[in-house]
Amino acid sequence: MLIQQVELFLIEQQLRIPFKTSYGLYENRETIIVKLTDASGTVGFGEVVAFSEPWYTAETIQTSLHILQDFLIPTILNKVFTHPSEVAETLNIFKGNPMAKAGIEGAYWDLFSKKKDISLAKALGGMKEEIPVGVVVSMNEPEVMLQQIERFQIEGYERFKIKVSKQNDYEVISKIRDKFPTISLMIDANSDYTLNDIEQLKRLDQFKLLMIEQPFGDRDFMDHAILQKEIATPICLDESIYSLEDVEIAFALQACKIITIKPGRVGGLTESLKIHDYCVENNMPVWVGGMIETGISRIQNVALASLAGFTIPGDISASSRHWEQDIIYPEVKLENGKVKVPNGVGLGITVNEERIKNLSKKVFKF
Ligand SMILES: [Mg+2]
Repeated sequence: MLIQQVELFLIEQQLRIPFKTSYGLYENRETIIVKLTDASGTVGFGEVVAFSEPWYTAETIQTSLHILQDFLIPTILNKVFTHPSEVAETLNIFKGNPMAKAGIEGAYWDLFSKKKDISLAKALGGMKEEIPVGVVVSMNEPEVMLQQIERFQIEGYERFKIKVSKQNDYEVISKIRDKFPTISLMIDANSDYTLNDIEQLKRLDQFKLLMIEQPFGDRDFMDHAILQKEIATPICLDESIYSLEDVEIAFALQACKIITIKPGRVGGLTESLKIHDYCVENNMPVWVGGMIETGISRIQNVALASLAGFTIPGDISASSRHWEQDIIYPEVKLENGKVKVPNGVGLGITVNEERIKNLSKKVFKF
């Protein structure tokens, strides 16, 4: 398909409930929606999931706009591609900037599967018709977190991830475990610890956590390997994983026992598939993470999570977890604790372009 037009919509939405991690507080969320149109008028949608600030990774909304406008879009515009992996390969002549690349590549996957008249899930090799999902509980007073877990449990979520910091970890986790001794519970420290905190982290083994996500900095493979030898709780790497190569390094060093994939963080769905296959071959559990994203990225994650190798429920909550109204319909909903994998062509949902226009702060057309 020839990419005839690219449009970028910089949108901003207020979160229903402010979301706090060890990095800081999010009240509003900017994202960039990518719309590709081919020569026949078929469109594909993707999303750039970078945050406004370089807390989670180095990319931001503004760096993504720069990379998209000045490098990525001129490279793919008016070019013919036969498969999304060719788009990924072409964009990889530029270093870094995986979220900007994934926005384009994801939109091309949607376009590609529409042209093939199949769902994105099928195009990716997905098998499941519905997927179990987990939810992330924002950092807060323990009493508030307990109430939220109770509510999320009623809504049907099967796995609970709580955001902690090294200041509050023991207090928060022990209160949650007192009330919910058997729920599938994990913590995400977003790089808040260092090797000096090994004794503190060892104390958390008693809580039988499903995993601890990213205790150390993103390039601290060696330190994670030292920690993993000392603690029984499996380490899951998130911020450390930008590519299959990073997974290979982590595996060789035994720096973790679990991997979470976010297509944005690894440059798109093509790289996500490579990581999934590698993890399956090497018996490394793998799951799909989340980025406080809109329905476009969210439903793309649902399609990805339908692959057989994703054995741990992902951070794929319902649209209503963060939004009063999503930019897709039908919105992502939980039914009996599961999310149905759309079987319509492409993303399998309708993008609410009117709402995107209304939310747009800036629109760019190429
Ligand atoms: Mg994380």
